[in-house]
Amino acid sequence: MRDGFLMVISGPSGVGKGTVCEALRAKRDDIKYSISATTRKKRPGEVDGENYYFLSLEEFKEKVKRDEFIEHAKVHNNFYGTPKDYVEENIGKGNIVILEIDVQGALQVKKNFPGAVYIFLLPPNLEELRSRIVKRATEDEETINLRMHNAEKELSFIDKYDYAVVNDEVDDTVYKIECIIEAEKLKATYLGGNK
Ligand code: 5GP
Repeated sequence: MRDGFLMVISGPSGVGKGTVCEALRAKRDDIKYSISATTRKKRPGEVDGENYYFLSLEEFKEKVKRDEFIEHAKVHNNFYGTPKDYVEENIGKGNIVILEIDVQGALQVKKNFPGAVYIFLLPPNLEELRSRIVKRATEDEETINLRMHNAEKELSFIDKYDYAVVNDEVDDTVYKIECIIEAEKLKATYLGGNK
């Protein structure tokens, strides 16, 4: 069986990465979602081991020391990391593993997984983005401003990605990402997988 591949999805806070990834997972059995570890506080409704592995700073640092992440980064004042075991196991099984990570993490992944596919999700416009974050109502004013500031910074990294998809309607975005997956599988260079 051919190895699967990594699909890195980035985009500013509030662009709808979570919703899109969930819809993709629900549609296809060959798509697996890597649950990240984070030191961020749990939001209401979030479940440990489902949304994230919520760790203390000490626990997180210990995992970094033991080289248990394929990448890790500080994002909006919290630490986030992608566990290595899950990614390697699922790529080995021929699955497509989605990493919903920030641009710093994506750049680290690029060094070790040259065949991964990089998709940047864009908001229809920045005002829309602010209104989505405000509507989510899980962040205070200062955090919203930090996330908006970081959104503009993240947008400047778009040229590091293979694809840029505007997320207006979720169904449409999911359709486009499925087209990307099919195109990737047809690449002449994708013979033995691209770990
Ligand atoms: P949130 O706190 O809103 O769940 O996520 C904040 C940001 O952290 C998002 O841009 C998200 O993509 C990013 N993120 C989530 N998990 C990881 C990870 O494992 N590594 C990196 N580098 N970024 C992550």
